[in-house]
Amino acid sequence: MIVNKTFETAIIGSGVVGSGLLFTLARYTDIRDIVLFEKYDEPAQLNSSPKANSQTLHIGDIETNYSLEKARSVKRNAAMVANYISHFGYEGEIGFRRDKMILAVGEDEVASLKERYKVFSELFPYYRYMEADALREKEPMIMEGREEPVLALGVEGEITTVDFKKLSESFVQMALDTDKNIQIHYNEEVLEIREVDGVFELTTGNSTYKARTVVANAGAYSLLFAQHLGYGNNLAILPIGGSFFFTTRKLLDSKVYTMQNPKLPFAAVHADPDLTADWNTRFGPTAFALPKLERYRQAHIRDLLEAMDIGKDTLEVYYNLLKDSTIRNYILHNFLDELPYIGKHIFVNDARKIIPAMSSEDLIFADGFGGMRPQIIDKETHRLMMGEAKLAVGGAIFNMTPSPGASTSLAIAEKDARQLCDFLGKRFDEEQHLKEIVNA
Ligand SMILES: Cc1cc2nc3c(=O)[nH]c(=O)nc-3n(C[C@H](O)[C@H](O)[C@H](O)COP(=O)(O)OP(=O)(O)OC[C@H]3O[C@@H](n4cnc5c(N)ncnc54)[C@H](O)[C@@H]3O)c2cc1C
Repeated sequence: MIVNKTFETAIIGSGVVGSGLLFTLARYTDIRDIVLFEKYDEPAQLNSSPKANSQTLHIGDIETNYSLEKARSVKRNAAMVANYISHFGYEGEIGFRRDKMILAVGEDEVASLKERYKVFSELFPYYRYMEADALREKEPMIMEGREEPVLALGVEGEITTVDFKKLSESFVQMALDTDKNIQIHYNEEVLEIREVDGVFELTTGNSTYKARTVVANAGAYSLLFAQHLGYGNNLAILPIGGSFFFTTRKLLDSKVYTMQNPKLPFAAVHADPDLTADWNTRFGPTAFALPKLERYRQAHIRDLLEAMDIGKDTLEVYYNLLKDSTIRNYILHNFLDELPYIGKHIFVNDARKIIPAMSSEDLIFADGFGGMRPQIIDKETHRLMMGEAKLAVGGAIFNMTPSPGASTSLAIAEKDARQLCDFLGKRFDEEQHLKEIVNA
């Protein structure tokens, strides 16, 4: 059945990025007719679920893989989520002021963090410089049994922890509370997009819907939609799984991040008080290649093979990654972390960087937690791309959003909303957006 109405915009996916776009369009533009499709029965069942990610609002202050330039941009973009939470009164429900720190262990890391402090404290003047004694007072478990030199840069009193599922739900509700014509179709998977005479036709199991513009915020599936329309054929996905371990009792009050090895493209181990587990400490994520697009659900095998697009160019990227011994050992090590029974005995060595007195008996595999990072491979340059990727062509936008995509969801939405407004000849309400989201 073809639905007669032509929507101005169709959004695919109600994770935090798709829901954030729905909210932004409904509240800050005069786009009136919007339809959103989500294949599951409610928002944020995949990576935006608090069980899938680390619940961290990445601002750039404790992420040592960010350059100053990247940190400056992530700070501005992620502040939009913090501003939304404060402005609309969601503190304590969606966003939480929990302390956090970046921890350097050993002489080399301490020297490097000191250098970083000199450069980054202009951008983050609130850093608390903590040497051993201050750390012992703040987080005693970090210092128990510790022999190596340590240094930490702490952050206190900021919104650092976000339930991105609740955030997605609030975005949807705020959009529905406007006077716009919004249709939300849960349990309706978009199977195909076609462009016919400048109008997009989206086919689901139920019907075919028409829209003048379309935005795919569907994780790894966004690339598949783009490629079916002839865009992004130079890209492929390397699906990287991430798992977590809980501790048998709460060991830390703060989020504790470790320094990134510049050679390793995925996050270094960190410990996070988990908002779904009475703030018990959750360690991770691990990082390992896994032939899946959804961590705890089977994807269609055809989708998986298309997304990975294993050919000569993709294999060259895998080869380049594996020929580096640091990366090879890391991948092997993380693969062993996943093995039942012995995994935690291996992972405990990583966790000891944060809590030296930790024993494997203190760890429990966090069953049902973890997600898939759709890391993007550029087949032309044979490189793994870091961070989010966007393909935007006229009225069609496709977002692939590994970390820090949840933190920057409102900035991704702002950019897309502006492009849709330009394309449709609509207006973006700068003043209200500035007041409520940018400067709140
Ligand atoms: C282990 C791990 C830890 C992370 N930690 C953090 C963190 O601490 N902070 C942070 O900012 N980011 C973190 N991230 C990244 C973050 O989770 C993502 O950037 C973010 O959730 C992406 O949101 P999204 O809406 O694009 O995707 P998703 O949340 O995956 O949503 C995509 C949605 O599209 C729907 N969908 C897919 N295909 C279709 C279709 N054909 N039809 C209809 N619906 C469809 C899906 O059901 C889903 O609801 C982490 C990621 C991982 C894997």
